[in-house]
Amino acid sequence: MGDINMNNKNNNNQFDAIVIGSGISGGYAAMELCTKGYKTLVLERGRMVQHGEYPTAHLDTWDMENQGKVSLEEKETHYKKQNRLPWWVNEDNKHWVNKDDEYPYNEDERFDWIRGHHVGGRSVMWGRHCYRWSDIDFEANKKEGVAVDWPIRYTDIESWYDYVETFVGVSGQAEGLKQVPDGKFLKPFPLNCAEQKFRDAVAEKYPDRVVTPGRVANLSEYDPEVHKGARGQCQTRNRCWRGCPFGGYFSSQTATLPVATDTGNLTLRADSIVMEILYDAETKKARGVKVKDAHTGEIIEYSARIIFCNASTVGTTAILLNSRSETFPNGLGNGSGELGHNVMDHHYGMGAMGYLPGNEDDYYQGRKPNGFYIPRFTNLDEKSKRKDYLRGFGYQGSASREKNIPPGILGKDLKAEIFKPGGYFISMGCFGEILPYHENKMYLDFDQRDQHDMPIITFNAKLRENEMNLRKDGIKCAIEMLEAAGVQNIRSYDSVTAPGACIHEMGTARMGRDAQTSVLNKWNQMHEVPNVFVTDGACMTSSGTQNPSLTYMALTARAVDYAHKQIQAGKL
Ligand SMILES: Cc1cc2nc3c(=O)[nH]c(=O)nc-3n(C[C@H](O)[C@H](O)[C@H](O)COP(=O)(O)OP(=O)(O)OC[C@H]3O[C@@H](n4cnc5c(N)ncnc54)[C@H](O)[C@@H]3O)c2cc1C
Ligand code: SF4
Repeated sequence: MGDINMNNKNNNNQFDAIVIGSGISGGYAAMELCTKGYKTLVLERGRMVQHGEYPTAHLDTWDMENQGKVSLEEKETHYKKQNRLPWWVNEDNKHWVNKDDEYPYNEDERFDWIRGHHVGGRSVMWGRHCYRWSDIDFEANKKEGVAVDWPIRYTDIESWYDYVETFVGVSGQAEGLKQVPDGKFLKPFPLNCAEQKFRDAVAEKYPDRVVTPGRVANLSEYDPEVHKGARGQCQTRNRCWRGCPFGGYFSSQTATLPVATDTGNLTLRADSIVMEILYDAETKKARGVKVKDAHTGEIIEYSARIIFCNASTVGTTAILLNSRSETFPNGLGNGSGELGHNVMDHHYGMGAMGYLPGNEDDYYQGRKPNGFYIPRFTNLDEKSKRKDYLRGFGYQGSASREKNIPPGILGKDLKAEIFKPGGYFISMGCFGEILPYHENKMYLDFDQRDQHDMPIITFNAKLRENEMNLRKDGIKCAIEMLEAAGVQNIRSYDSVTAPGACIHEMGTARMGRDAQTSVLNKWNQMHEVPNVFVTDGACMTSSGTQNPSLTYMALTARAVDYAHKQIQAGKL
């Protein structure tokens, strides 16, 4: 496998397809297009990062400045907004994180926008949790009269989940749950002894609550015939967010971009900021994109037959809102006026923890790259119905050995004591659904410009009554489950997070059945501009409780297949 190709092989700037963004969804779009034979240009605003260029992958805490902590001065200067989540920016990941002072945005309401501009986007640093959506999610808006109906159901996407899971490599355990359907799993990273004990205790008292190994895109089994690219067996060292030299988890660098490169059809241009999509009123299609070179400032136009928008939920919608023409004065394909609205995320910052007695003589090997997951169990049917909120929440958590460092002793006595194992500590955090509110939105402030002369993105979104009521139940249920397992010294927490903090931002160019009320049709194709497809999180019509990226990938592969068939049929 060679480096990702960066040469422009089409000197006339004409391609079959353009993909904007090289993150999780953009990488997937590029691979699917290239393998179908399309000369594809991927435009990425950030710097080039080849597989293996992970500067902190082999460092230990003591190898880094300030034991891995970013200095207060640096945080105050460069990460003022992100430092509102004090655990987030560290020496081991700061090179993947945009600096707030270099990439300004405005907040009518607080929004924690976490993103990185580089090839691979957030695929390099994501948490890798992958869960399918079900009809409980796809039908919810319609059943409850919330926002608009999803134009698809589970059967529309099921085979595409199979398809992407097989390539991505998702480890997990089949549980037969209707709310998170089973997938094409590699063997799970098993629960450790304390997590298994917790699972058993919860199952006994609450049979509808399932503690299962987190389903993660880490190769617990490696098959070179299937897991193509620059991948290898996961070595369970749990440093994935720094970039994995073994290619043990799915990222654009390890998986999709190398496969796209091998087709000979990929051209990837880094440091290329897409400013707008250019509309041709005569053909009623997009004719290409306007790009600014991040270093030279040169403005270049590229044209293509189809354009895939994968610049992330916020990045894509910013480009679309900035693409103004006589036909679309409020942004490309924005006849509905919905572009920028219905911002969603998941909300978290609530959960519980404590000490799980027992298992002193058990241990576990390695550092598995996951903990446990508890899928949603509320509002699934009449029995689990809640009166004070719609939808539900899931949990991610883990149990691990505490260090045994007794206070007040030194020397030989301390040495003897620390060889004795500590007890198990268990912690679980709740991920809640946010409803799609029209009032929650992002927009561009055209009177303020950033360093590249792009209008400043502004957020106006917040949690509302449904979310606040849901949080209370999430904490209550966490305590109940820990109590059922005999956990001691239980502490709960409720630090309300702003939208964005969960890094699952969604919505802003939603799919729907009606061009009057939505931006995209059921194929992720713009209702009003048929050769433009949006397959990142901007397309989402509701937020579910599951981590969303697997669904973006499945929708992307499905949309490329559709576009290809339309082209073959001479309709696009
Ligand atoms: C720490 C962390 C943990 C996470 N854990 C999980 C998880 O466990 N499960 C899960 O499902 N999701 C998780 N996520 C979220 C996940 O990373 C995102 O959902 C996913 O990366 C979105 O894919 P994307 O292709 O839409 O955007 P990204 O991966 O963000 O890629 C977008 C790319 O577009 C580029 N771009 C933006 N604007 C422009 C422009 N104007 N011109 C050219 N290029 C542009 C960006 O530089 C970037 O490279 C996590 C994220 C983080 C940061
Ligand atoms: S846990 Fe696996 S995927 Fe993560 S860094 Fe280690 S080897 Fe790589």
